[in-house]
Amino acid sequence: MDRTFCKTREHIRLESPLADEPGCVRVSVRDVLRVEWLGLAAWIGVGVVVFLVWHVVGATLVAGVFGMLMAIGFFWNVSKGHSLGCSFLGALASVARVTEFL
Ligand SMILES: [Zn+2]
Repeated sequence: MDRTFCKTREHIRLESPLADEPGCVRVSVRDVLRVEWLGLAAWIGVGVVVFLVWHVVGATLVAGVFGMLMAIGFFWNVSKGHSLGCSFLGALASVARVTEFL
């Protein structure tokens, strides 16, 4: 694993028309939020709907699934040799995109 490319678009796949910058561009948390906001908004939307239907239990469940996917993505990236920051942003971007499959 080449850590010189950690925290760049080379490692953190952001899928959006906004993201067609060169692969060597550094990615910050703000970039991930800016590009993947729709996916994150969908997570929040699902959380709100589930909260309205099943109240705290449902909201906790959604938060738990989100956290679990984040943890799996994070440790998966760490195990592949990414830096901690790169692993976190990669996991965040991936989990945000999960809603595309709903
Ligand atoms: Zn990396």
